[in-house]
Amino acid sequence: MSNPSLLILAGDGIGPEVMSQVQRVIGWFGDNRGLNFDVSEDLVGGAAYDKHGVPLHDDTMAKAQEVDAVLLGAVGGPKYDDLDFSVKPERGLLRLRKEMDLFANLRPAQCFDALSDFSSLKTELVAGLDIMIVRELTSGVYFGEPRGIFEEGNERVGINTQRYTESEIERGARAAFELAMKRDKRLCSMEKANVMESGILWRQVVTEVSKDYPEVELSHMYADNGAMQLVRAPKQFDVIYTDNLFGDILSDCAAMLTGSLGMLPSASLGAPMDNGRPKALYEPVHGSAPDIAGQGKANPCACVLSFAMALRYSFAEGGEADRLEAAVEKVLADGVRTGDLMQADGGTPVSTSEMGDALLAALDASL
Ligand code: NAD
Repeated sequence: MSNPSLLILAGDGIGPEVMSQVQRVIGWFGDNRGLNFDVSEDLVGGAAYDKHGVPLHDDTMAKAQEVDAVLLGAVGGPKYDDLDFSVKPERGLLRLRKEMDLFANLRPAQCFDALSDFSSLKTELVAGLDIMIVRELTSGVYFGEPRGIFEEGNERVGINTQRYTESEIERGARAAFELAMKRDKRLCSMEKANVMESGILWRQVVTEVSKDYPEVELSHMYADNGAMQLVRAPKQFDVIYTDNLFGDILSDCAAMLTGSLGMLPSASLGAPMDNGRPKALYEPVHGSAPDIAGQGKANPCACVLSFAMALRYSFAEGGEADRLEAAVEKVLADGVRTGDLMQADGGTPVSTSEMGDALLAALDASL
């Protein structure tokens, strides 16, 4: 059987720096766990624009459709800020998400013990926190028509439309219930059924889907209350399923419960391919961090943890994903910190590659 395939799109700014550490980790799994991947690399974002005049070349898009998983670093940077909207680096990422039809965005908010005092909340509220937010990613108010800025009488009016079909709500709900089955079997669906028809439909469809998952305890919450509960008592949640707009906001809110942007992975999943694996794109939540790019300061953990998600969700290697996450946990517990994880009271930060060294040593120790 051939090896599973991975397309690496390191992108711009700190993207290539953090990705080079992930490449070492991928190599470690090949050398030590017999997990070999056919890895190919290509350009996205500003790097693709510099070479091809577009933020994602058609050939790269075609490759992304063929591989078992795509791993992306970050795109963007000040050099590209004045480009026309149609060729901005972010358009490359949006094209990937759209053409791969990645409808379920998984954003874990997990608090590593060693970082629990980094949270804006009290340590006891976040210690041991482990939430998964599933955000619908391809529909809703960011895509609905009509949209635009129109003249109405003697003034302008800005219009966006929240629109969801049953099937769009259902496929995301199934992804969320499947995840809940592998976790603590609790799912909280969030919408605004009190004031939005799309929310009423959302609640109805999620309730219908729940009949296929009798073991999962389903609850419903208005999204505004959800925001309050996330900062009041976040540990009450296991999996949260919500729409594109609410998910955008709630996942950022939940992310900050855990401390640093440099620690946050994500996965975007689509429909299963012929081999049963979902279409998948894994990427850290952070951007290209131009303020620290090229200085060896970036924290590679978010990108490494994104690869751990790939092991779990694309390659059914949950045990190896646990191993990698435990290595991150151990390194942090040993006090190894990149600059973003330093406390005001000092210590010496390690570089991006020294963090990579520590991760590999922790992986070695796990054997
Ligand atoms: P950012 O996430 O790049 O950086 C925000 C802050 O967090 C910066 O101070 C940065 O130094 C720090 N930071 C981020 N990741 C870090 C890491 N791994 N280690 C240490 N520190 C880290 O967000 P921004 O500054 O708003 O955006 C910069 C560029 O990135 C823009 O061009 C933006 O459009 C783009 N962006 C891209 C993505 C993506 O590729 N998915 C996401 C967000 C922003």
